[in-house]
Amino acid sequence: MDMELLKDQGEAGRGDLPASAAGLALFLDIDGTLVDIAPTPDAVAVEPGLAESLGRLASRLDGAVALVTGRPIEAVDALFDGLRLPVSGLHGAEWRDTRGDVSRPEPTDAFLRSRERLRRAVAGWEGVVFEDKGVAFAAHWRLAPLHEKEIRELMRDIAAKVGEGWTLQAGKCVLELRPKGRDKGDALTGFMAAKPFAGRRPLAIGDDVTDEAMFAAANAMGGLSVRVGDNGRPTVASGSVASPAVLRRWITGVAA
Ligand SMILES: [Mg+2]
Repeated sequence: MDMELLKDQGEAGRGDLPASAAGLALFLDIDGTLVDIAPTPDAVAVEPGLAESLGRLASRLDGAVALVTGRPIEAVDALFDGLRLPVSGLHGAEWRDTRGDVSRPEPTDAFLRSRERLRRAVAGWEGVVFEDKGVAFAAHWRLAPLHEKEIRELMRDIAAKVGEGWTLQAGKCVLELRPKGRDKGDALTGFMAAKPFAGRRPLAIGDDVTDEAMFAAANAMGGLSVRVGDNGRPTVASGSVASPAVLRRWITGVAA
């Protein structure tokens, strides 16, 4: 293989992303996909111009660009100031449609007690980050790997006692309790049922285990699925791209 071809498949190229976005409906994860993973969720930096490029691309695709993320919807709006795309938050559990209507599960008393239990425990663990996501919560150990075992034990106990309607979700250096039921695949399928998504070919792009559900949903509809980076786990994605930076460059290009 010559060097040019090698280069084309790495940082300099576009991996398995299509040459054009025409006819596509885009479903984009955020962390590790559009933005680089940071030591804590609050520390991520959105590249200057990315929100504008996404807005421009959404216009070109008649609005068929949705963000499908583990973050709550409020956090997405704070991250992409001024950009109001259809969003599914909390790995599919929350939903804001093209009209701007939001639906999400209601927290139970047991859920609220569990959230406080984790918040108090994490306060005593140096470097562990507690994330309040509304009807979900998470503990991150990226900065404190020595606490991973304690977090796993506590979260398992919380999940066993919180009652029906909630489930544990693993991610990159994070364990989360989130609403059970709708996943990212359901989010993609739901968006695809109505304009402006209906009739287009879905392209799902993500980097982590919860993205596998939307990869499968996109594949089942004859669409495309692209994993960003390699998290070392098996994937159903039909293609890959080297890094968030390569994806951002692609977005800028196809939005132009
Ligand atoms: Mg991600």
